[in-house]
Amino acid sequence: MTLDEARALDAADPLDFARERFRLPEGVIYLDGNSLGALPAETPGQLAQVVERQWGEDLIASWNSHGWIEWPRTIAAKLAPILGARPEGLLIADSTSVCLFKALAAAMRARPERRIILTEESNFPTDLYVAQSVADLLGGEVRSVRADELTTSLNETVAVLTLTHVDYRSSARHDMPALTAAAHAAGALTVWDLSHSAGALELDLDERGCDLAVGCGYKYLNGGPGAPAFLYVAERLQKELHSPIGGWMGHAEPFAFEASHRPADDISRFLTGTPSILALAALDAGLDTFAGVNLQQVEAKASALTEIFIAEVEDRCPELRLASPREPADRGSHVSFAHPAAYAIVQCLIERGVVGDFRAPDLLRFGFAPLYNRVEDAWQAAKALGEIVETRAWDQPRFHARQRVT
Ligand SMILES: *Cc1c(COP(=O)(O)O)cnc(C)c1O
Repeated sequence: MTLDEARALDAADPLDFARERFRLPEGVIYLDGNSLGALPAETPGQLAQVVERQWGEDLIASWNSHGWIEWPRTIAAKLAPILGARPEGLLIADSTSVCLFKALAAAMRARPERRIILTEESNFPTDLYVAQSVADLLGGEVRSVRADELTTSLNETVAVLTLTHVDYRSSARHDMPALTAAAHAAGALTVWDLSHSAGALELDLDERGCDLAVGCGYKYLNGGPGAPAFLYVAERLQKELHSPIGGWMGHAEPFAFEASHRPADDISRFLTGTPSILALAALDAGLDTFAGVNLQQVEAKASALTEIFIAEVEDRCPELRLASPREPADRGSHVSFAHPAAYAIVQCLIERGVVGDFRAPDLLRFGFAPLYNRVEDAWQAAKALGEIVETRAWDQPRFHARQRVT
């Protein structure tokens, strides 16, 4: 593909209008929106408004007058169409790790005669650690298997199957409807982690019979560093599932100040304490970048950008080995390549204004955020990568020095 051809594809992109909703630094090709979404243009102004007008002038009255107390639900309602869920099934709260803990504990306690939490051995580390914490606390056991062993491992001992929909390293995508159906056939519940799918792929949680799900607010949803996470609990399950942390915000009447916990009869029962209003305000602005966006087009663009990037990189750098599925339907919106000098290559690329990241032990990872990345970005990044690998420009001491966050 030529640069002109790449630009012609961008000119015909039905999502082209969304790029202006972000503030992207000049001269930078940002391919890390799967790790920290870019800053939406409206976020600084909206945050300033919440801080100065709401907090500054209206003070505590804002809980009512600006509806702060409802934000975990009202902002979830903005997220709902992105996940193919009804607002009644969603909350914004905590972090992904904490939401996962709540979801797994609730699911385990709903299957008291079963002990196993089934997961994949390559799952994201926090997901594995949290599963182990829940198992330790409730007298269960975590069974981590390879992806191809999941269905045969589902039996009458499994309380819950928990998986990350799109793998953070390889980008491999699970067949969510098929695995959910297999888990249900074995009598187990499912908890899906959608951190690398929400905002990049078309999802249909309600229609696909999903039980519980969690995911990050700061990746493709653009909520800002450490943004609150989301928790989905299918409406049909809400009455039988209980949060393991019965905080006052999950009480049926928090301001009745009753001495014992009486859970709300809806999704609010999964709330714990006072929501972080400033963080919610930033996530709200992040979700506004999806206004009028068609998720089918988002997924189509994810597939096109990753496809073009793979072809361009393979054309220029035979030394790199594709570590992601070749079939677009089998992957998410990021692509990984393996190389023994992956860390140094990524650092060298960053110095040239192409921001991807490194994932141990040997992966270069490039995320394509369909709302703001263009075909031209994929083309230019592949070109820079090709030059760096060919000239070994990465082989300098400064590119080998490891930083704390990779
Ligand atoms: C990014 C990510 C997380 C992050 O969890 P935090 O609690 O926000 O730190 C968890 N799980 C997966 C699969 C992720 O990709």
